[in-house]
Amino acid sequence: MKVAIYHNNHDVRVEEQPIPKPKEGEILVNTKACGVCVADTMEWYLSPRAPLSLGHEPTGVISSIGPNVENFKEGDRVFVHHHVPCLICEYCRKGNFTMCKTFRSTHIHPGGFSEYFIASKMHVERDTLKLPDHVSFEAGTLIEPLACIIHAIKKAKVQPGDSVVLIGAGTMGLLFIECLKYWGVRDLIVYEIMDWRKKNALEFGAQHVLMPDKEPEVEAKRLGEILKSNGADKVFIAAKDIGAMNLGMQLATKGGTITFFATPAPSESIDLYPSHIFFNEITITSTYSADHNDTRMALDMIANGGVSASKIISHRFRLDQLSDAILQTQSRDESLKCIIRFE
Ligand SMILES: [Zn+2]
Ligand SMILES: [Zn+2]
Repeated sequence: MKVAIYHNNHDVRVEEQPIPKPKEGEILVNTKACGVCVADTMEWYLSPRAPLSLGHEPTGVISSIGPNVENFKEGDRVFVHHHVPCLICEYCRKGNFTMCKTFRSTHIHPGGFSEYFIASKMHVERDTLKLPDHVSFEAGTLIEPLACIIHAIKKAKVQPGDSVVLIGAGTMGLLFIECLKYWGVRDLIVYEIMDWRKKNALEFGAQHVLMPDKEPEVEAKRLGEILKSNGADKVFIAAKDIGAMNLGMQLATKGGTITFFATPAPSESIDLYPSHIFFNEITITSTYSADHNDTRMALDMIANGGVSASKIISHRFRLDQLSDAILQTQSRDESLKCIIRFE
């Protein structure tokens, strides 16, 4: 089988490896499609650990099963989540599944950018989902990214009728817009710098798309006029740059919640004003990844048309073009979701 091996964003080599055999409780999946994530472009995070096989948004067909696999058979069309929790550690017992050590260390082998991969017994039991017939392999690649958004919306405790500010209208931002509307939010205001992304945000249903001012305080005032309050109930920062984070910190109303949904490099920091947070009872939270409850909800949303995969997926590449797909994802040129298709 062909496996893409990542060295850096410009250097991804396709290698031949033997097709693995599923052992007790495992399944072998013939990959059909796999999304390219912004995390697959974070060279500072990836190249120190290279060579790596990436790909965590895969769908495919079960090509063989190991002994004692229940609930799945050869030929089933599936999505497999790459991380699964142990369910019994302190974090899991408190519902913080994405903090679980097992969750962090579990992976599909070798990865979604491979013609075949093995899902372990734990993956099969806990977070392998059958795709309904009408959900395409391409649409199924959105389960993982959408689940991350659902995880964030749940953690921020978004309520129907909330006013929401979303910073960043890239691919994840657009999925956020669809998901927030599904959740019944009232006012949805998006901040975005790039014109083509602004247009997308409006098309996907944002009421207002604003260009962030250089002074976050000026922006807070302008937002207040739109919302007729001093900020939004919920603020989601879905952009990696510090400017976006400093802006986001100004835009929550009293009692509001600010969620960090993207990470800058570890050395970057922002200023916090505890007095502002204290007197306004601002909640600051963050979300990392998604758990097995979120993936199930994501699949439901895709299956019942809550998310329009055909509008989100803009570019398709072959496995030997993975470096191009990574660079396209990184470039912020006019593209949304890039995926790898397997014939
Ligand atoms: Zn991802
Ligand atoms: Zn655990």
